[in-house]
Amino acid sequence: MSRIRELVRPHIRELEPYPPGKPIEELERELGIESSIKLASNESPLGPSRRAVEAIFQQAEQLNRYPDGSSYYLRQAVAQHLDVVPESLLFGAGSDELLEILVKTFLGPGEEVVYPWPSFAMYPIVTVGMGGTPRPVDLDAEYRADVDKLLDAVGERTKLVFLANPNNPTGMSLGSAEFERLLQGLPDHVILVADEAYNEYVRRPDYPRSLTLIASHATLVVLRTLSKIHGLAGLRVGYAVGDPELISYMERARHPFNVSSLAQAAAVAALGDPEHLERVRSLTHEGLALFEKGFRELGLDYLPSDANFVLVDVGADAAAVYERLLRLGVITRPLGAFGLAQHLRVTAGLPEENQRLLDALREVLGR
Ligand code: PMP
Repeated sequence: MSRIRELVRPHIRELEPYPPGKPIEELERELGIESSIKLASNESPLGPSRRAVEAIFQQAEQLNRYPDGSSYYLRQAVAQHLDVVPESLLFGAGSDELLEILVKTFLGPGEEVVYPWPSFAMYPIVTVGMGGTPRPVDLDAEYRADVDKLLDAVGERTKLVFLANPNNPTGMSLGSAEFERLLQGLPDHVILVADEAYNEYVRRPDYPRSLTLIASHATLVVLRTLSKIHGLAGLRVGYAVGDPELISYMERARHPFNVSSLAQAAAVAALGDPEHLERVRSLTHEGLALFEKGFRELGLDYLPSDANFVLVDVGADAAAVYERLLRLGVITRPLGAFGLAQHLRVTAGLPEENQRLLDALREVLGR
């Protein structure tokens, strides 16, 4: 073992880094190509609301000042938007940071975090990073979170359950009956984290109204982000909603200036532009419909998605298909690391980008 390696805490030494989607610039530099498209990271294809961009420019004049550590205006805006009290909110640099604050606040060494798997890659990373033990639980045969198996996996040492709803990378969601069965089945010493990064895309009428359950379940925390439908992934802002006492402890575990002044200003403006959100939503739903039609024509199986991406079975080694799509300037996400060796995850983009993915896939698969 090298000297440096010996110095590193054992659980950090063994940690697998998060695999980000390939940036467009990197692909173009590597292959010497142009006009590539990225459908790999579940981003909004439209960018943020103009109002958010203008708010950033205005706020930029005051970058000599530290941000407002309490996110006062953003807190008021979100409280009003969700109809919750301001003290039930905690802001972070994306839901990624909120997950980290959760484990920092609640997870002791050797304690366990239960989550369906495959799911969001940060769940094991934040757990192991804090010296905790990840307990991934297989999805059911239809790629849904399996409530019975999740409840079985919960034990004395379990502190947190992470549930992405809808789930990434499958796009499948739990309805309110299953969600409440999970919530009610958990013992008092377990906190359920409903990670609702993609909630705005969901069309099923029985999607859980999780915020309304917090009053009766002080161990439920809901995570939301401005990274997806609001198109502010580059700025890093999200929030947690929970019981005010629970949130007050998470407040102690965060950095005082964890949300930049630009992020706060842009988020307030973005929340005030529901028309923009609606544009992204309908464009995404059109994109999903085009993908589904295209996949059917190519004879490929896919999962019906409640989010802004689709999991498609390419019927071949997905890593190889991914590489060949890259050469055609199309970035997708292969899921071999999740045990899905034949699947790609593709994010709904602009109409021409979606068509380009389908054309490239047809060419690569020789259909
Ligand atoms: N949760 C889920 C389920 C996600 O897919 C993502 C984004 N990939 C995040 C959380 C993180 O989002 P952010 O940190 O940008 O808010």
